[in-house]
Amino acid sequence: MTGRYERVNTRDEEDHQTPVSNAPRPPFPIPNSPPPSFHSRASSIIGRDNNSRQHQDLDDAFGSEDEDAWDDEPDDRQRLVRDNTTPSSSNATSITPATTTMTAQASAQASQPSRPVGQAPTTTRVYGGGIQSDGVFSNLAAKPERGEPEKEELPPSYEQAAADSAPPYWETTVLAPGLGGFDDVFIDGMPVGSIFSFLWNGFISMTLLVGFLLCYLLHTTHAAKNGAKAGLGIQLIQYGFMMKSAPPSSGGGYDDPTADNGFINPVDPNAHDFDPDNVQNPNGGGIDDFTGADWMSYLMMIVGWFILIRAVSDYLKARRHEQLVLQSPDRGLGIPVIATGERPDTVVSGTSNSELIENLWRNEMIKHPEVKSAFLKVDRAYYAPRSPYEDCPQPIGHHATISAPHMHASAVEHLLPFIKPSSERPAPRVLDIGSGSGYLTHVLAELVGDKGKVVGVEHIEPLKELGEKNMQKSKEGREFIDRGKVRFRVGDGRKGWKDPEQEGEGRTSWDAIHVGAAAVKVHEELLEQLASPGRMFIPVDDENDPQGWNQHIWCVDKDEKGEVKKRKLFGVRYVPLTDAPRV
Ligand code: SAH
Repeated sequence: MTGRYERVNTRDEEDHQTPVSNAPRPPFPIPNSPPPSFHSRASSIIGRDNNSRQHQDLDDAFGSEDEDAWDDEPDDRQRLVRDNTTPSSSNATSITPATTTMTAQASAQASQPSRPVGQAPTTTRVYGGGIQSDGVFSNLAAKPERGEPEKEELPPSYEQAAADSAPPYWETTVLAPGLGGFDDVFIDGMPVGSIFSFLWNGFISMTLLVGFLLCYLLHTTHAAKNGAKAGLGIQLIQYGFMMKSAPPSSGGGYDDPTADNGFINPVDPNAHDFDPDNVQNPNGGGIDDFTGADWMSYLMMIVGWFILIRAVSDYLKARRHEQLVLQSPDRGLGIPVIATGERPDTVVSGTSNSELIENLWRNEMIKHPEVKSAFLKVDRAYYAPRSPYEDCPQPIGHHATISAPHMHASAVEHLLPFIKPSSERPAPRVLDIGSGSGYLTHVLAELVGDKGKVVGVEHIEPLKELGEKNMQKSKEGREFIDRGKVRFRVGDGRKGWKDPEQEGEGRTSWDAIHVGAAAVKVHEELLEQLASPGRMFIPVDDENDPQGWNQHIWCVDKDEKGEVKKRKLFGVRYVPLTDAPRV
C-alpha cells in the first residue's frame, strides 16, 4: 500500500503551457487523531462544522471509504498529481478527492501551506492514467526523477495505528449467503430466520426427541429455535393423546388373540349392564375414575400446548420486531447509517427514493416543488451501485463517484431558473460535464420541458456508456434517449461541448452548465459557450491551494450583455476535472 501514505511524484507531460513550479511542496503533517475510515466526509450541509477540515486531512492521509471500494478494482485508483518535480517530504500524503460533497472551509485555508510569494498559481494537473501514475501497479513502474532521493514507505504513527484498529484496506467480515446478509436484522443477537426454517425444525423435533435436541442445541436463528420448541410441544401433546386413548386392558374382546378363526371377535353390543338409577355411582365415572396415567396424559398435553403456543408467539414476536426495524427510517439504529456529522433529526438518508427526497425537502436542501417532483421521478437506485438512498457519494468505477444527493439537489436548485422552460427560454439547453452515472443528467432532463435538451459529456467512454445504460433502466430514461432529448457524448469537458450539426438545433450556447468535477479554474471555453443570460455551477480548486484539497462551488452568471459575475458559494470535495486516463 505504498501509495496510501505517499504522494506519487511525476510531471505533467501534457500541459506544456503551464508554468511548472520547482519550489518544494510544503509538508503536510499527517494528523494523529483517528482516521474516519468508514465514514464519508460530512455528507450533508446540516450539522457539519469546521472540524471537517481535520476529517479531510485524515481522509486524504488514510484514504476514504470510496478509496476502499476502489481498491477492489483491477487497477488501483488514479492519483492526482501536481506539477511538483521536487521529491515530496516524507510525511506528504497522496491526495485524490474521492467524494463529492460539501465541506466546511472556514479553518481550512489558515492551515494550508501557501504558495511562495511571487510565484504564479499552479494550475497544471494531471489525472495520471495508464502506466504513468495509475495506482499501485504504475507506482511500481514509475521512475523517480533524476536526483530524487529514494522514497520510503512510511508506516502510520503509533497514534494513527492505535486510533484505526481496523484499517480500511482489510475486509474481515465474511458474509455467507443466508447467514446474516446485509439485510438480516439481528434480534437479541440472532437473525430471525424464515417461516420455512421454523416449520422444518418443528417437523424434525416433532418426530424424534433426539431431533428436538439437535435442532434446539444447534439453532442459529429464532425460527430454528422456536420451531424446535414447537416440535417438542407437539410431541408432548401426541404422547398425551396416546396415553389417554390407550385401549382398556381388560373387559373387552378386542384384544383376544385366542379367537378361533384368527379374527378378533366383536364385542357383544348387549353385553353391558346399564342401570339408569345408578348413574351417580361413584365407582362408575367422574373424576375419581382418573388414573395416574390419565393425569399424566393431561399434564403432558397441557405442557405441550403451552410450549407450542409460546414457541409460535416468540417467533412471531421476533418477526414483528424485525419488521419494525426494517421499516424504521434509521433501520433500528440510534443514528442512521450515514456519514458522521449528521444528527438523527436532520438526517437526509432514507430507505427508499421517496424517503430520501422527502428528507432533502424537509431539510430545505430541495426548495422548489418542481425540483422535488423531478427528483422523485428518478430512482437513484438505477444509478448508484450500492446504498442509493444514503446521502453519500458512491463509487461508480473508473475512479469516479456519483455525487451525494444533497450536492445534486444544490446544483439543480441553483441552476433552476436557467433550466426550466419559460417564454424567453422555451427550449432550455443544458450541459452536464462529467455526467458519470447519468443520474443528474436524468434529473435535469425531467426539468427542461418537452423541447429542452440535455447533453452529458464524459471523458471516459465506459462511463459515458454507463450513463446511457443506467438511463435505459427506466421507461422515462429510455424515452429521453430515444427522442434525443438526452445525449451522452465523449469529450474533454474542460472544452465544453460544441457540435453544431448534432447538438446545435439553431444555437450552440448552453443556458445552464453543470460541472460535476473540480476544475483548476473557470475554463474560458466554458464561459464562451455559456448563453447570455446563462448560469454555470462549477466546483473550482481554491487559488491558494495548489494541491486541490480545498474547492468551492462557483456560481457563474452571464447576463444579457455578456457580462460575467462569479459568486463563491460553499466548500466541497469533488473528483478532479482532468485529462482522460491514458490507455
Ligand atoms: N456527476 C456525475 C459524476 C461525478 S464524478 C454523477 O454524479 O454521477 C466526476 C465525473 O467527471 C467522472 O465521471 C469523471 O470521469 C468526469 N470527468 C473528469 N474529468 C473530466 C473531463 N475533463 N471531461 C469530462 N469528464 C470528466
